[in-house]
Amino acid sequence: MRRDRVSVKDGRGRTTAVPVTWVHTLVIGSGAAGLNAAVQLASHGIEDLLIVTEGLQKGTSINTGSDKQTYYKLSLCGAEADAPALLAETYYAGGSMHGDLALVEASLSARAFLHLVDLGVPFPRDPYGQFIGYKTDHDPRQRATSIGPYTSREMCRALIREVQRLGIPVREGVTAVHLLTVAEGDSSRAAGAVIANARGALEAICAENVVFAVGGPGGLYRASVYPEVQTGAIGVALLSGAKAQGLPEGYSCWWCSTNRDGVVEVYGSSGAGFDIFRRRAMASEPIRLEYADNRGASQKAYLDSLARQAGAAERLSFASPTGAFRAIASAICRTDLAAHRRLMDRARQYRETFIGWLRGMDIFGSFAWLTPTDPETFLTDDQLVEKRTGGEFKTSQEYEAWAAKQTDWRTRWGVLNKVKLPGDSPEGFPFLDLPGMPRFPDRPGTLLAGLGSSAVGAGLLLVEAVLLFYLGYIAFIRYDVR
Ligand SMILES: Cc1cc2nc3c(=O)[nH]c(=O)nc-3n(C[C@H](O)[C@H](O)[C@H](O)COP(=O)(O)OP(=O)(O)OC[C@H]3O[C@@H](n4cnc5c(N)ncnc54)[C@H](O)[C@@H]3O)c2cc1C
Repeated sequence: MRRDRVSVKDGRGRTTAVPVTWVHTLVIGSGAAGLNAAVQLASHGIEDLLIVTEGLQKGTSINTGSDKQTYYKLSLCGAEADAPALLAETYYAGGSMHGDLALVEASLSARAFLHLVDLGVPFPRDPYGQFIGYKTDHDPRQRATSIGPYTSREMCRALIREVQRLGIPVREGVTAVHLLTVAEGDSSRAAGAVIANARGALEAICAENVVFAVGGPGGLYRASVYPEVQTGAIGVALLSGAKAQGLPEGYSCWWCSTNRDGVVEVYGSSGAGFDIFRRRAMASEPIRLEYADNRGASQKAYLDSLARQAGAAERLSFASPTGAFRAIASAICRTDLAAHRRLMDRARQYRETFIGWLRGMDIFGSFAWLTPTDPETFLTDDQLVEKRTGGEFKTSQEYEAWAAKQTDWRTRWGVLNKVKLPGDSPEGFPFLDLPGMPRFPDRPGTLLAGLGSSAVGAGLLLVEAVLLFYLGYIAFIRYDVR
């Protein structure tokens, strides 16, 4: 690390000396990502490192948690196979992640996880040494693990201990306000940052490499529901020309179902908004199906084992004439176990046929999956704002600028409600016409079929009845009961 001063002119034309630091690798941010990057680089021989951060106790990783904060990685337990490509596919299917990044993260996930274990983060293990995993939402494998509500806090504490052990310098109490860039070919790359301390004094840090680990988009939007401590500096990178992938996108719609029945229905959105829902469904629906298939298979195995036991109990009950009579009566009335099994088999076959039919129409990637609105009639955000406000605002930007100054949400909302547009709600659309939809093969059994399937039981009952009658008759003859 080398320190110097350069003279720069400020906005009023005055010359000031700004301190400049030269360093091989600059890490901006000290959440789990920044700390881990610094520790890994130092372990791989990078000696000239500097971490600049608002504070070691700042950021999401060390401050927030949830009921059971989940660490997600390649599955390291159980008998189900997993592979980086499969994990990357699951990440990618979420719809917000760059595919290459998904594969890199998946490929290194086990290694990064075990590194944390080596640093002393107490992830749970079973007596054989397997890292206990569980399935999270839409996760087809047991890739998640946790050490409780503050998993990332414990990770940070272990990493901070390691940063101190390795002697990596940390500058706390500073904010990166600008990224320095140098031209490289047709584009440019980061070559340092300008940081400001609490008094506003500036300092430049020039570096060969910059690790930009400033957290999520918490500080990016005017209105945010993130906790205050989640600042972030993505905007700094965007202003310097960085390209972003998968930033949460804003969208609005006038009516959206609650997804309680598993299907989202949307009305009254702009074309861009509809497209966000469409892309989300295209990524998430196949995962939902895969999840249901996995879950269905284990449930079926359990129910089949119960059915085998119930079948054995039913056969045993034939030892008694009343048991045999009940079984025959159930078979004739089609309330017996065999009838239930036949119905369930038909339901499973129908599910396969129905899903195949949906897939055949490429339905999950189409607008028809989430709305009956004709894509030809979709409006742009600006058109929606103009029409809904009765022409008061011409563009959504104009509306946003005005809305930012309003303190009451009813005022902001009310102006958009001036004009109701057709297609804003489910009303007014004709019912779906689905002539090609496969129907459930409902095959109610006949009395004759019931009699046929219970013929063996009826024969057995007859033999039992004759035998009992014969034994009763003998007893009556042999012993005078008068
Ligand atoms: C309630 C909640 C529950 C969560 N649950 C989970 C979960 O179960 N599983 C999961 O994987 N993820 C979960 N997350 C997300 C996860 O915690 C974060 O994605 C992760 O901690 C981000 O780590 P990071 O290092 O990228 O950023 P952060 O931990 O936010 O670190 C960013 C660092 O950069 C610093 N910084 C920011 N701006 C500047 C600047 N301009 N100059 C200098 N320094 C700056 C900050 O002070 C901080 O030190 C949850 C998040 C929340 C809020």
